[in-house]
This record gives sequence, structure tokens and C-alpha cells, in this order.
Amino acid sequence: MPKFFIERTQLRSEPDGRKLVVFSGEDAHHLARVLRVKPGDLLTATDGQGRLYRLTVTALAAGTVSALVLGEEEDRTEPAVRITLYQSILKGEKMDWVLQKGTELGIAAFVPCLSLRTVARPEPELYSKKQERWQKIVTAAAKQSARGLIPTVRPVTPWTELQELLAGHPAVVAWEGERTFSLRTALDQLAAAGPPSELSLIIGPEGGLAPAEVEQLAAWGAVPVSLGPRILRAETAGPVTAALILYHFGALDPVPGGEEGEITFFNKGR
Ligand code: SAH
Repeated sequence: MPKFFIERTQLRSEPDGRKLVVFSGEDAHHLARVLRVKPGDLLTATDGQGRLYRLTVTALAAGTVSALVLGEEEDRTEPAVRITLYQSILKGEKMDWVLQKGTELGIAAFVPCLSLRTVARPEPELYSKKQERWQKIVTAAAKQSARGLIPTVRPVTPWTELQELLAGHPAVVAWEGERTFSLRTALDQLAAAGPPSELSLIIGPEGGLAPAEVEQLAAWGAVPVSLGPRILRAETAGPVTAALILYHFGALDPVPGGEEGEITFFNKGR
């Protein structure tokens, strides 16, 4: 069943208490021309804030598709742990790959950073263009992977701002120079203290993280962890570490009820 992202403003309450959603633009085109929906077809939609709406198509008009809200429920496709990936900007498609795979896996936000050895340093005037392009990649991946929210791609962020951004919640920095502390131990310790609702993950650039940078991150509360004796490319390390974190906290487990979860019908008995 296809899942759409809707704005709350698309929800319309009818005088008889029924709720309608009106799709327009690209979504209406996708529904009418690609999915060729007909009245009576079932759809799901999320408002991106954790609510899932069960819909049935009621009408197709020029450029719009209307659907009746049959019920709503909590959108359980989102992981309980909100992961923010701080990724030192990577060259070209490697960055796109990290954003797309990280979105499919369940990362909630991406912070493109500039670390000491970042090779791909965009011109500052290109920062917002890059952010826009990266956000488009994430938005498309969120729709494809039926996410409950569209992850945010934050502005290109200088390293010094990480001190404030990392404050107040657990953070791990994958460091190829770490020789003793494993990701697994770090996650076991976090799980024992009560699975965190928020976790930051820092991954270096192609040139790796400088020891001084790792020391600084540790001073800011990030725990350096090893991903084993082999050196992973950054575009491998980010998605793999996010997957390991999500797996560790059960976020890759099936959701009981899933698509057919218990829904509260608005129009029961109408
Ligand atoms: N300096 C490396 C390349 C860095 S890999 C080289 O000499 O080729 C890019 C990033 O991936 C690293 O900064 C780190 O964040 C992560 N990474 C790769 N392999 C890792 C490992 N075995 N343990 C921890 N982090 C790793």
C-alpha cells in the first residue's frame, strides 16, 4: 500500500465530521497517472510527525485526488532512537550514497561537516545549493523507504559547532585509530543505562580523522569506537555503523501489527 507524506493543512474536516485529504501536484499525478488509483482504493499517509492516516480514494478531478480518512494511528515506522549522523563532507556520489542509505536505514538527521582532512570542501557560496540537493536525495529516499518522517539535512557545519550540537545526549565517533573500545561495548553500555532516545554518530572524511580532532570530540563527550581492524571507506562506515546501532536497539525488528496495525476508526458506525 503506497504511503504519502501530507501536510496537516491538507487535512479537511467536513461538516459531518468526516476528514478528507486532498492530494495535488506531483502526488496527485503519481496517484492518478502512475498508480492509476480508483475510488475505493486504500492508501496510507503520514504527517511526518508520527501520525499514520488510513485513507480510501473518493474522487479524482483535474489535478487533484481526494481521499477519506478511515482512521489514524501512531506511525511506528520510525526508530525509537533518533540518530543524527555527522558526516564529514565526502566527494560527489559518496555523499549521496551515505544520505540515501542512511535514510533508508532510519537516520533522523544529517549534519554535513567540515573536518581538518575533509577533501571535498565546497565553496561557501555553494553550501545552500548542496544542502538543497542533499535534502532532495533524502526526501526521495524517505518516500521510497516509507519513513514516518523526512530526515533533515542541516546546513554545512564547521567542526567547532559540534561542541554545542553534541551536548546533552550520547555520541560515538568511529575512529580508525581506536585500538581498544568497540562499538558493541559502547552500545551495550548505552543499552544498560536505558536505550537512548537520541544518539549522535560522527564519521570522518576520506582522509580520516586527525587524533587532535578525536581528542576534541572526546572532550565534548563523544566516545571513540573501533569498527574493527579493517579500514572501511567513509561511505561504508556511516551506513554500516548506523545499521549496527539500529540493530542493537531493536529498530530493525518487525513492528508488531505493521501495516495492518490496530487503527482507530473515525467514522465507525457512520
Ligand atoms: N584514514 C583512513 C581512511 C578513513 S576512513 C585511511 O587511512 O585510509 C573514513 C572514516 O570511516 C574514518 O574517519 C572513520 O570515521 C571511519 N572508519 C573507517 N574504518 C574504521 C574502523 N576500522 N574503525 C573505526 N572507524 C572507522
